[in-house]
Amino acid sequence: MTVNGKDWWCPNCTEVAHTVDSKLPHHRCVKVGLMVPLLQVGVPAKLVLVEREDMIAGEHVQYSGDESHRPYMSAVVTRDDGQDTTVFAPTATAEGVS
Ligand SMILES: [Zn+2]
Repeated sequence: MTVNGKDWWCPNCTEVAHTVDSKLPHHRCVKVGLMVPLLQVGVPAKLVLVEREDMIAGEHVQYSGDESHRPYMSAVVTRDDGQDTTVFAPTATAEGVS
């Protein structure tokens, strides 16, 4: 049991981290080439990368960096007590600015 901070790991690569605050750490995962959250060591959880299902109509979406080149839209960490979702927002365009 660690008292000073939390340890984190990635199920898709060898990335590990140690944090002392309450923020959810992210890293650019070598498997998908996107910023994805890490899983806390000792906490049962799974990481799911969600692909865009809607049409990509001229948006500059972020594609994964691997050979599959998939248009991932979010990464979801599901734990027994909830979820954390990281959304890969399309690159901002000049809309809705007043
Ligand atoms: Zn990773």
